[in-house]
Amino acid sequence: RKSSPAQTEFYQAAEEVLECLRPLFERSPYYHDHSIIERIVEPERQIMFRVCWTDDAGRVRVNKGYRVQFNSALGPYKGGLRFHPSVTSGIIKFLGFEQIFKNALTGLPIGGGKGGSDFDPKGKSDAEIMRFCQSFMTELYRYIGPTTDVPAGDIGVGAREIGYLYGQYKRLTGRYEGVLTGKGLNWGGSIGRKEATGYGAVYFAQNMLEARGDSIKGKTCLVSGAGNVAIYTIEKLYEVGAKPVTCSDSRGTLHDPRGVDLALLKELKEVKRTSLEAYLEQHTEASYTPVDDYPTDGHAVWRIEGDVAFPCATQNELTEADAETLLGNGVTCISEGANMPSTAAAVDRFLAARIAYGPGKAANAGGVATSQLEMAQNSSMQQWPLQKVDARLKEIMANIYKQCADTAEEFGEPNNLVLGANIAGFRKVADAMIDQGAV
Ligand code: NDP
Repeated sequence: RKSSPAQTEFYQAAEEVLECLRPLFERSPYYHDHSIIERIVEPERQIMFRVCWTDDAGRVRVNKGYRVQFNSALGPYKGGLRFHPSVTSGIIKFLGFEQIFKNALTGLPIGGGKGGSDFDPKGKSDAEIMRFCQSFMTELYRYIGPTTDVPAGDIGVGAREIGYLYGQYKRLTGRYEGVLTGKGLNWGGSIGRKEATGYGAVYFAQNMLEARGDSIKGKTCLVSGAGNVAIYTIEKLYEVGAKPVTCSDSRGTLHDPRGVDLALLKELKEVKRTSLEAYLEQHTEASYTPVDDYPTDGHAVWRIEGDVAFPCATQNELTEADAETLLGNGVTCISEGANMPSTAAAVDRFLAARIAYGPGKAANAGGVATSQLEMAQNSSMQQWPLQKVDARLKEIMANIYKQCADTAEEFGEPNNLVLGANIAGFRKVADAMIDQGAV
């Protein structure tokens, strides 16, 4: 820590994992003999670069670019790119670290990585976004490839950005290959990838609830975020007979007690890229709370009553006070679509209350799993139908749940899916690292 200050989120993620590994290390001390902890917390490689681009006024602008290639014991590095002004090397490192264990849990041959930039896509024209993406890829292309490192989307990186990034990769290398996932459906993308993270988070909640003899059907659900993960969480919730009543963006929280109007949400966020406040123009029965009116100790969305919560926006968006309110309101299940959305203190509350709590690295792994299915389709030059992709996604989410639950049971803490996810993911990676020697 002394030698690398200000990586708060990375320490938060690493401490959670290391804390959970204590019982495993007591049982299997040979992990110590191979210095696995010292190795696994250190990325294999971190790339930082300058990204220069020209805005519409002709001014040269500069941003920072990152790619952390964290661990390749199980396969090529795999993990998204985040474009958001809050991005720092510490944020990318935390996301890359989480990605190692998440990818291991999918059971698919993918290592862990993550990247991004402090570039803010908000308020930029399409042409500016394109020039930024082209410049970003002009440096990144040296380090990636379909069998080395395969980036995807994350916050601020959707179909439009993946398109511009892919076009530039192709221009620079002359190769048409599966170097990125989340591609357009008519040029190498997988059907069902866009929906996979949100759908997977709902499947994970179903698995958790069914194991407790309960069901998601008829449940009132709280969803945060209004981006890729939140929108397809809401879509799947309707399909399984639940009622999603909230969503949020960086400016405020929307509550529609009759159920969020999904078509309007898609229109506002996917097409117009505007604020959720515009929702009220068509639905006067809904209410909107701007960020300035949020409680000082948390987020307005978690103060609304519901049965199941899906945090789908960003890290640390659910505080201890929020957790207390959710529990007080009788929430019985949390399935995390976002990465590390609950603070460490909030997680402790959920575990102490013994509700069904699915940590992000397990509950949102459906996205990266389907990205790997996109890689498989690209390398065999096929495109699978939706039924096949969705059936695989369902099966993968059920397997992830089972691994987490069985491992928690094995270590004497049934229902502690945090412990189960961390130990199960770690064991796969650590065993592969030992097999591959001191590299
Ligand atoms: P998007 O950019 O599509 O959407 C993000 C949403 O969260 C937007 O509504 C955005 O608001 C809101 N948001 C982002 N940052 C903040 C913030 N600091 N405060 C308040 N609201 C914020 O991203 P995704 O939906 O792809 O990602 C959401 C989460 O899911 C992230 O944690 C990501 O790492 C995780 N994830 C994503 C996967 C994927 O496949 N996309 C896979 C696995 C995890 P606004 O609209 O105002 O920008």
